[in-house]
Amino acid sequence: MRYFVDHKTKLIHKILSAGDECGFNTTPVSEREFTNNTEYIEKLTNSSEYERCPHCQKFALVSD
Ligand SMILES: [Zn+2]
Repeated sequence: MRYFVDHKTKLIHKILSAGDECGFNTTPVSEREFTNNTEYIEKLTNSSEYERCPHCQKFALVSD
């Protein structure tokens, strides 16, 4: 699983990059979703409701 969708804050994290700075510690488990479906992630970001987490993007240079 490569992505972690926080449905509370509507942020998409990369599992390998996610950390305390991402601020998902208060998100209930029921609102956390794990996936490696890139099409689904694209769909979420294209909907403009969801955003890629800026913290995780700092580490995005190595892969996609
Ligand atoms: Zn993050």
